Amino acid sequence: MQKVELTDSQILKIHCPFCGSLALSPEGTSHCEHTLYIASDEGFEYVSNKLQFNEDVDLDEKSMDEFTDDIEYVNAVKFAIYQPAPNFFGGYLAFAKE
Ligand SMILES: [Zn+2]
Repeated sequence: MQKVELTDSQILKIHCPFCGSLALSPEGTSHCEHTLYIASDEGFEYVSNKLQFNEDVDLDEKSMDEFTDDIEYVNAVKFAIYQPAPNFFGGYLAFAKE
């Protein structure tokens, strides 16, 4: 899965690369038909039924970043949003055309 790494900011917005729908903003998150998952280090907020697991999946000792890096999906793009130091909290979203 291709990965785009971004540093979080107060004004960061992520739009779906396929339809332009607003996926993440300071006001919150939302998903469109292309969203594969929306997650933070605390867990999955949304998981598409295109994937073989649901929000309650066991990460098997991996961090959320590692777990989502390991998801195999054709032509998917992952966005990883990292908070600046000293707060390393991360947010993770992925999109795929189909
Ligand atoms: Zn979309």
